[in-house]
Amino acid sequence: MDYVAALDRAIGRLHEEGRYRTFIDIERRKGQFPNAVWTRPDGSQKPITVWCGNDYLGMGQHPEVLAAMHEALDATGAGSGGTRNISGTTVYHKRLEAEIADLHGKEAALVFSSAYIANDATLSTLRAIFPGLIIYSDALNHASMIEGVRRGGGEKRIFRHNDVAHLRELLAKDDPATPKLVAFESIYSMDGDFGPIEAILDVAEEFGALTYIDEVHAVGMYGPRGAGVAERDGQMHRIDIINATLAKAYGVFGGYIAASAKMVDAVRSYAPGFIFTTSLPPVVAAGAAASVRFLKTEAGQALREVHQAKARTLKMRLKGLGLPIIDEGSHIVPVHVGNPIHCKMISDMLLENFGVYVQPINFPTVPRGTERLRFTPSPVHGPEEIEKVVKAMDALWQHCALNRAEATA
Ligand SMILES: *Cc1c(COP(=O)(O)O)cnc(C)c1O
Repeated sequence: MDYVAALDRAIGRLHEEGRYRTFIDIERRKGQFPNAVWTRPDGSQKPITVWCGNDYLGMGQHPEVLAAMHEALDATGAGSGGTRNISGTTVYHKRLEAEIADLHGKEAALVFSSAYIANDATLSTLRAIFPGLIIYSDALNHASMIEGVRRGGGEKRIFRHNDVAHLRELLAKDDPATPKLVAFESIYSMDGDFGPIEAILDVAEEFGALTYIDEVHAVGMYGPRGAGVAERDGQMHRIDIINATLAKAYGVFGGYIAASAKMVDAVRSYAPGFIFTTSLPPVVAAGAAASVRFLKTEAGQALREVHQAKARTLKMRLKGLGLPIIDEGSHIVPVHVGNPIHCKMISDMLLENFGVYVQPINFPTVPRGTERLRFTPSPVHGPEEIEKVVKAMDALWQHCALNRAEATA
């Protein structure tokens, strides 16, 4: 086996399809979000504005979050020193889990290294807890859920994206006595569309299925206390397992599930992805807890309102230029390009010529032919930044002779 040639072929394929990923080397400066400094491959630097971050509310530089982290760092040092079972459970982890359980109105919560791990570890482990479990999974679920469902190894049914009738059809075909779980998201982050939470819960209830929701792109940002879209819609109490991240709107790091005390106890006891890994550094747990706590307050609600207003403004401005915006009413602003080479080219030009950083989103993150730029405005994007991005997009659309007004949704 010529291993080097195989590596070359694998990487070459990505280049040919225009989807080889280049990482943009940025330095975020606290107090100046969303502005940052980009270091080019040749070492030269340029000031830029980050338009594709998932620190949706700027909590990564929030004084209360940073103060909690400084305090924990000085009090306890760097790492946790162990897995949760062997010396790695601290008062910071317990406090964070209590904060999360309270957020979602559940008896308990369990923190993982990330929401990716939380999805993968939980979904794959439920099969061991409920023998014969069939998982019904939305076709556009995140890679971490797909991986968890796949690794669990049992029966799975994929329902068409947001198609409750299809889900119902699939549920009706299976033996009523078989344990079932429906897994879906509240906001699908690439189109920014919402899952039909209430309708899915109705069907799941009718067929006696457990429900599992990924609220990764909603926590902190929706609902009066920032618990997500299910909170906003008054459906949170009906969901068995809520998954989310502490790394996006909460601006820190880590992931979790919130559920009944028994469910959490079982996952805690059986999930290798929870058991055999070092727990979060206390500093991270302290920062995440401070962020969750802050966003439960009225000040958090005010931030959510500014966030939504910024998203509406950007959509309105880009639509005003006739650009093909995908508008599903969430805080995510995808601009459809539909070709990986164009998408990369526009992104490169925005960065180099305008200091606007928006990463091209290509296959396999989105289906081929739906390549896009995905803008994530935040409360810290000011009027000047918005003005700059609108002018840049107008100029580039002109320059690249791209179609206007192909907007969907
Ligand atoms: C980002 C993402 C995750 C993973 O969250 P991390 O905490 O970054 O691992 C899970 N689900 C969805 C829908 C995501 O977009």
